[in-house]
Amino acid sequence: MFNRFLRLFSPLAPQSLQGICLFCRQATDQALLCHYCAEELPLLDHHCRLCGTPMAGKENICGHCQLQPPVWDFLHILADYQFPLIGLIHQLKYQHRPLPAVLFGKMLAELYPEEEPKPEVILPVPLHWRRQWQRGYNQAQELARPINKYLNIPVDMQLLQRKRATKVQAGLSRVLRQSNLKDAFQIRPHHYQHVALLDDVVTTGATVTALVRLLKESGCQRIDVWAICRTQLHGE
Ligand SMILES: [Zn+2]
Ligand SMILES: [Zn+2]
Repeated sequence: MFNRFLRLFSPLAPQSLQGICLFCRQATDQALLCHYCAEELPLLDHHCRLCGTPMAGKENICGHCQLQPPVWDFLHILADYQFPLIGLIHQLKYQHRPLPAVLFGKMLAELYPEEEPKPEVILPVPLHWRRQWQRGYNQAQELARPINKYLNIPVDMQLLQRKRATKVQAGLSRVLRQSNLKDAFQIRPHHYQHVALLDDVVTTGATVTALVRLLKESGCQRIDVWAICRTQLHGE
């Protein structure tokens, strides 16, 4: 944990964004995150590489994922969906404030495990144009910009398209969620082998599961899922 904390203040920190910590609103000599809040952030320590469940010992895949692995090959997240991250994620999604994406995207870049191969391309989960127009931006695309900047991984915003608006997923049963998502997306021809699908929060995993299936069918060999947080993935 201590090493991960130090990496947040690596030379990658953008000097131009020095000023106010997004969490405590105090002035800081760092970009968007002060030392105090960084130390307090509940970042994941050793965890399952597929679902993010905290783990003791050296295992990399939890018992649940060994029995029932998700469709993706690797999950890169910062934390569980909890205080104090929830507040900033709400600003990003519902309060027309995209700035937290600059911080979270930078953190995703800086905390990407050195031992993992980098994906060839970042694919932000597409929003329906109407929702994007209402919000003014796609939060996954906003997250992708700093990742592109700090890790030099290209972002493809055209590969995946959302054909129609899906109903809000929360509260729907598993079966309804899947039919809600069926045929909601389409994909353009491509030659990518290793891609990272980027979303703000992985909740039930239904949206990313639909997209991962589409990407696998189109020839991708390895599909990673990147997000700020996950809520519980098991026990739906
Ligand atoms: Zn702070
Ligand atoms: Zn797991």
